[in-house]
Amino acid sequence: MAIHTAEAIVLRRYPFRETSVTLSCLTDGYGKVKGLVKGLRAQPNRHRSAMEPCTVNRIVFYDTRTSQLHLVSQCELLDPLEGIQRDLDTARLAALCVELVDTVVPLEEPQPATYRLLKQTLERLALGGDEPQALRAYFIVRLLRLAGFQPQLDQCTGCGQPIHTSGYWSARAGGLLCPSCLHEDPNAEPARPELLEALETLSKSDQPPALDAGLLPGLRQRLDAFLHWRLDKPLKTLTA
Ligand SMILES: [Zn+2]
Repeated sequence: MAIHTAEAIVLRRYPFRETSVTLSCLTDGYGKVKGLVKGLRAQPNRHRSAMEPCTVNRIVFYDTRTSQLHLVSQCELLDPLEGIQRDLDTARLAALCVELVDTVVPLEEPQPATYRLLKQTLERLALGGDEPQALRAYFIVRLLRLAGFQPQLDQCTGCGQPIHTSGYWSARAGGLLCPSCLHEDPNAEPARPELLEALETLSKSDQPPALDAGLLPGLRQRLDAFLHWRLDKPLKTLTA
């Protein structure tokens, strides 16, 4: 049985029996882990953190190797990121970020770049000052890229032929279709080069890039349709 210390952002928290909670967390060094905190609801002070979603904590957990639910023995609040709760729109956007991470990131694979992206995005939301739709588009595209889940934009999702400039966007197919494969999605539309360029820029940037604000509504519509068609289960927070 190994004991680990990690910085952890809480993705989900749910009650377990009368006094305990189970958690899904993204950690800096161990990827996404599930943990059980015994007695958290009975003696919250002993743990120095209530382990609320969207907060940054330091946790100590035992890795039993026989179960994917680890025992969290200590948790300490490092940053409540309380600015996130200042208005409903910000809180909803943060909830979308953590739900999307919980959905696309596999258990127990170290994901340091994903951890940095989530932490940086939640800190920016807490601070305010960013255009929310630009930050939203950046977070979604970058996360999908890091998770290997991004829209396929360089070849046809139907036949695999390279596509350079002319292609048809299909959220259902997961990216572009060539003219011969259009029968796969009657709703596919000619892809606008400026949108493809924006997707490419977003996916490759370490920081939220400056984007033409006029592109944001179109990006949002296409990204949300992509998530709608490509995720196994619908996101509860997609309206954020
Ligand atoms: Zn094709």
